[in-house]
Amino acid sequence: MKVPLLDLKPQYQSLKKEIDEAVQRVIDSQYFIMGPDIQKLEEEICSYLKCKKAIGVSSGTDAILLALMALDIKPGDEIIVPTYSFFATAGVVARLNAIPIFVDCDPVTFNIDPKKIEERITSKTKVIIPVHLYGQSAEMDEIMLIAKKHNIKVVEDAAQAIGTQYKDGRFVGAIGDIGCFSFFPSKNLGGFGDGGIVTTNDEVLAEKLRIMRVHGMEQSYYHKVVGGNFRLDALQAAVLRVKLPQLDAWSAKRRENASAYTKYFNEAGLADEEGRLKFDSKNKVLLPKAVYKTGSVKNYHIYNQYIIRVENRNALLEFLKKKEVGCAIYYPVPFHRQECFSYLNCKDEEFPNSNYAAENSLALPIYPELSHEQIKYVVDSIAEFIKNK
Ligand SMILES: *Cc1c(COP(=O)(O)O)cnc(C)c1O
Repeated sequence: MKVPLLDLKPQYQSLKKEIDEAVQRVIDSQYFIMGPDIQKLEEEICSYLKCKKAIGVSSGTDAILLALMALDIKPGDEIIVPTYSFFATAGVVARLNAIPIFVDCDPVTFNIDPKKIEERITSKTKVIIPVHLYGQSAEMDEIMLIAKKHNIKVVEDAAQAIGTQYKDGRFVGAIGDIGCFSFFPSKNLGGFGDGGIVTTNDEVLAEKLRIMRVHGMEQSYYHKVVGGNFRLDALQAAVLRVKLPQLDAWSAKRRENASAYTKYFNEAGLADEEGRLKFDSKNKVLLPKAVYKTGSVKNYHIYNQYIIRVENRNALLEFLKKKEVGCAIYYPVPFHRQECFSYLNCKDEEFPNSNYAAENSLALPIYPELSHEQIKYVVDSIAEFIKNK
């Protein structure tokens, strides 16, 4: 049985008529830059996330870059980021000649460990960028308290977490000073190419973000500040507006699929106790843990990725490929081990949890249209690998 890691075709098929019409409407108007679809998408995202302002941008990466530019980040400023994330989180910091300061992750959630943030703060620290990795919120209460105490801004990298709620029900991206989202096709709300959006509850910051999105100009060809071309395409906005009303249903399906994995791994006797701090039992699979799954909060996790941890990860990856099961390693090299950051002279032993995650984690298919049959086949294949090794 073939189980791809991600298949976007069924989602498109389910909305083909509406999407094709929306795209044709933009083509007929020949209005490709800015315009009504951008403005409406921004309003719709605001009402969905319950935040004051949203500004559509060219990608998730540009969302974070623009956020840091709007906060006047200068060369030499220090920005705290988790060492275990997608490259963009740290890359944008270095592009501004600011210094990324890496922090280890929590071993259960993979998110930045708030207990290890304060020891990295200096007089040069300007921003903390928590990442809501794989679709689960970082520990925002503690992070916001630390930021307030030290007068530091918080830019949330919510690229993988559109619709994710924190334990109190607030949507991620609407908690810190600026939230950054990506509409890359593989995210839970994906466009037909690159795109992103920034969110904020601060009207002054919103205005600055809006101006900096178009080269820092308010009135045509008069430039208040230096910005860039960080615009979202009207075509992308039109597609995203058709998809947004379906987002919660898709995320619910991903949660259902995660429960199916738990059930099948348990039945196969392979599931380790969820959220065990260290993978110390052999021949088991450590399942991802939704730590805020309490009370009435619906989107406690949106499973942009479903990440297990196993021994012999690399061999399992090869085995699953032969079985035609799509899987991938997110992320094999934490920032402190990246060649491009060798100038920072990081001490590898300061990041044990991130190193562990990088060496043992594996992403399994979790997209909404996956069938339980396919999920069972993935689990059966892993069981076969473990029994025969
Ligand atoms: C996808 C992603 C980004 C970047 O988004 P793009 O739209 O691809 O530029 C940033 N941070 C994280 C954690 C991501 O997963």
